[in-house]
Amino acid sequence: MNYISTRDKSVKVTAAMAISQGLSQEGGLFVPDTFKTLDTSDFKKLCELDYIGRANYILSTFLNDFTPEEVEYCVKGAYTGSFDNEQPAPISLIGKNANILELWHGPTCAFKDLALQVLPYLLTTSAKKVSGGKKIVILVATSGDTGKAALEGFCDVENTEIMVFYPSDGVSPMQKLQMDSQKGDNVHVCAIKGNFDDAQTGVKKIFTDNKVKEKLSDNNMQFSSANSINWGRLAPQIVYYISAYCDMLNRNEDYLKDGFNVVVPTGNFGNILAAYYAKKMGAPINKLICASNANNVLTDFINTGKYDRNRSFFTTISPSMDILISSNLERMLFELSGNDDKAVAKMQADLAKDGTFTVSEEIKAKMNELFFGGCCDDEATLTTINKYFSEYGYLADTHTAVALNVYEQYVNTTGDDRPTVIASTASPYKFANSVLSAVSDKKADSEFETVRLLSDVTSTEIPAPINALENATVRFKEICEKEDMLQAVYKALVI
Ligand SMILES: *Cc1c(COP(=O)(O)O)cnc(C)c1O
Repeated sequence: MNYISTRDKSVKVTAAMAISQGLSQEGGLFVPDTFKTLDTSDFKKLCELDYIGRANYILSTFLNDFTPEEVEYCVKGAYTGSFDNEQPAPISLIGKNANILELWHGPTCAFKDLALQVLPYLLTTSAKKVSGGKKIVILVATSGDTGKAALEGFCDVENTEIMVFYPSDGVSPMQKLQMDSQKGDNVHVCAIKGNFDDAQTGVKKIFTDNKVKEKLSDNNMQFSSANSINWGRLAPQIVYYISAYCDMLNRNEDYLKDGFNVVVPTGNFGNILAAYYAKKMGAPINKLICASNANNVLTDFINTGKYDRNRSFFTTISPSMDILISSNLERMLFELSGNDDKAVAKMQADLAKDGTFTVSEEIKAKMNELFFGGCCDDEATLTTINKYFSEYGYLADTHTAVALNVYEQYVNTTGDDRPTVIASTASPYKFANSVLSAVSDKKADSEFETVRLLSDVTSTEIPAPINALENATVRFKEICEKEDMLQAVYKALVI
């Protein structure tokens, strides 16, 4: 098995190269050229294992040039002791068929921990193999949760530096505080004047600039990426969908005789792509339901076949999904086009030039067989939080609520109410202001009083990492123009 680029199939690299490079030279994304298909006996074995065992099993199929000991070292290091629940990805069943897969029991209370706790291990192990001791420089563009999860994952990891850019007005106060107070000698945080797409475009530009690369190389450094364009981010996400399938099988085999659907609150298309790969590997997933907020570029794309980012950008109460360019869609387009690298390169070029591209009828038909797209605005998000809390006593965060809302839209329009896994991507306490306003008229003056009030009103527990933030010191206060991102990087690296 090798990794090939979505824009040039003749580029072939090993897992360690794909992970340490992050992005292919010509701008394409790395994808495996084959996937292991899991059969009944594989699933039988997986069902008997705990999360670490399952992660080991599944990640081994992707890490072709890692030894079994190396894979185990990475997986154990990532998932031992860093999650507040013995099971990093537990399921909460609501009613008969809504299986809420809670992916926020890690150190930053959002699903990105599942991948970003293991990525530093994968990356440093990869770098040792392929880049002979160069210092790894991680650049991250974040709409909120990736930034903190990456900072936490890479904090004081030897021979790495990490720099995070976030849109100054595009993250929640809690997300901002989480990042600005990050500890560690190798971490750098910078707010930019612009939105997430500006941050992401800026990082991509720095990343692919040959002059910048040379300058780093002269200083014995090398870029890599912790964004979900890095294969090392995606592979660990496949694990929890397969693990959720095993957990449901263990509960009741008969329950899944017609397979299951998956709903994912989507931004950059990484999480839902991982669910697609789980399906490709053999998990009996029926429909992949892509839930968007008011930034509904993906809903329109799924329904019309035309991707068009030329539209208003909305700042919503589910900020981690405020995205108009979903980077990981490129990998899905590669799949849908039957690995047609030239077609993908053309679509991405059109997107860069005109902000839009249209897929063929054939691709659209394939896409509609696999995906259902739906969206909801902030008001509907709040109503949904209220509904699930008052009817089921389940407190959802704003992102999860978008998924729950679109799940209902799907059931209502199709009548398909088979068992469904709903990805719950953040703790409600990360977005306490909005969540509180959905369930109560009470108001508090500060962020942390809001957190306590939310706990009182709902009788739910405040996650420890949120509690600890209250007395954290703010270390980073810099705001830069989007044109000055490169200067900020040089300054942080002192080169
Ligand atoms: C990142 C994030 C998302 C979006 O996930 P993608 O993989 O970018 O589609 C949804 N919800 C939360 C809470 C997130 O942090």
